[in-house]
Amino acid sequence: MIEINILVLNCGSSSAKFQLIQAETEDNLARGIVERIGTTDAIVRYQPKGRNEYREVTEISNHAVAIQKIIDMLTHPRHGMIKNLDEIMAIGHRVVHGAEKFANSVVITDEVIQQIEDCIKFAPLHNPHNLKGIKECARIIPGKPQVGVFDTAFHQQMPPSSYIYALPYSLYKKMGIRRYGFHGTSHYYVSRKAAEILKRPVEELKMITCHLGNGASITAVKGGISVDTSMGFTPLEGLVMGTRCGDIDPAIITYLMEREGLKPAEMDKLMNSQSGLKGISERSNDMREIIEGAERGEYQFKLALDVFSLRIKKYIGAYAAEMGGLDAVIFTGGIGENAVKVRELVCEGLEFLGIVIDKEKNNQKSLTISTGRTAVLCIPTNEELVIAQETKKLVEEKRT
Ligand code: ADP
Repeated sequence: MIEINILVLNCGSSSAKFQLIQAETEDNLARGIVERIGTTDAIVRYQPKGRNEYREVTEISNHAVAIQKIIDMLTHPRHGMIKNLDEIMAIGHRVVHGAEKFANSVVITDEVIQQIEDCIKFAPLHNPHNLKGIKECARIIPGKPQVGVFDTAFHQQMPPSSYIYALPYSLYKKMGIRRYGFHGTSHYYVSRKAAEILKRPVEELKMITCHLGNGASITAVKGGISVDTSMGFTPLEGLVMGTRCGDIDPAIITYLMEREGLKPAEMDKLMNSQSGLKGISERSNDMREIIEGAERGEYQFKLALDVFSLRIKKYIGAYAAEMGGLDAVIFTGGIGENAVKVRELVCEGLEFLGIVIDKEKNNQKSLTISTGRTAVLCIPTNEELVIAQETKKLVEEKRT
C-alpha cells in the first residue's frame, strides 16, 4: 500500500510532536514526541499502535535531527508502522499564526513560506519553529506535499466588532494590531464533534467551547463560525492560564514598568511565565496540584482555583449574551477534560442559562454531563486529526 498515511507534525521551540494517521480510515497508527531538542539528553517517546511504547534519551542537536529520528522510528524494521517513505502521502503542519493572510489551511509553496515568515513578527516564539519543521521535511522527505494548518484560521471570520481593540484605528491598519485568537483547530474540532453528538446541524447551534490546558481560551461558536474568542493579539489575553495572567487592567503594565523599572522583556516574562495559576498560588502551574492544595485548605491554591473558574464563568455569560442564547458548553484540553472540580465551579450558578450539571456524570467523565436545556459536554480534543483531514483534502484537490 503506498501513499496512504499523513504525517502530522507540531514543531515547537524545543519539541516536535508527531502522529501518523491513515488518511482513509483516520486510524492513528503512531504518535510520539521528541523533547529537549538541542540537548544531549533529549527525550524521545514513540507509541506505535498496539505495541509497547519506545523511549530513549539521546542527543538531538536540532530540529533536522529530530525529524530524521521520527522518520527512522516510523520506518524501523521492528518498531516501525510503515516500510518506507513511499507510504506517506503528505505532511500536515501545525502553524500557530497565519494573521489575516490565512483564513484556511494551505498547501505549502515558496510563496506561502514567505507569508508565514511575514507572520513571525506576530508569533516570534512559534512560527520560526513551525517553519523549521516545514523546511526540514522538504529536505529530508523531498517531493511530498506539505500543508499548513493555522491556529488562527478558524477565528478569521469573527466580525470586526469582536476583533477590533478600542485603540487608534491606525494601529490596526498600519500594524495589524487586532484580536487574532488561537487554539482554532481545537475549537473547530470540538464544536463539530458536539454537533455530531447532539445530532443537530452545526449551523443551528450556539456553542461555547472552552479549551483549558496550560494555555486556555474560550470561543463563541455561532452557526459553526467563531464569532468571538478570548485570546487576542497574542495568546496572553483572556482566561487565567498555567503561567499567563490573561485579562488584566492594561494600566498595570505601565505602572509596574515605571515603579519597578521593568524592561519590556521582563514585563513580558512576568505576565507570560510568572502569573496565572503559578502566580496566584506562588507554587504550581499544574491544575492537579492546585486542586489538591485547595482541598487541603491552602488559601492561595483555593484562590487560584476560584479566580481561574470565575474568569471562565464570566466569559460564558458574556458570550451567551453576545450570541443571544446558548445550546451547548464544551470542555476540552487537559483541565477541561479531567478537572471535575473546575467544571463544577464554572457551571455552578448558571442555571439561569439552562446549565445544570449532573454530579455523577461529571465525576465519571461522561461525554454529556448535563441535565438542563443547555448541553454540557466533555470532548477530548483532536487537533492532529483535523490537520490530517485538512491535509488529505487539500492534497486531493491539488491532484484533481
Ligand atoms: P497543553 O496546553 O500543554 O497541551 P494540556 O492540555 O495537556 O496542556 O493540559 C495541562 C493541564 O491539564 C495541567 O494544568 C494539568 O494539571 C491538567 N490536568 C491533567 N490531568 C488532570 C486531572 N486529572 N485533573 C486536573 N487537571 C488535570
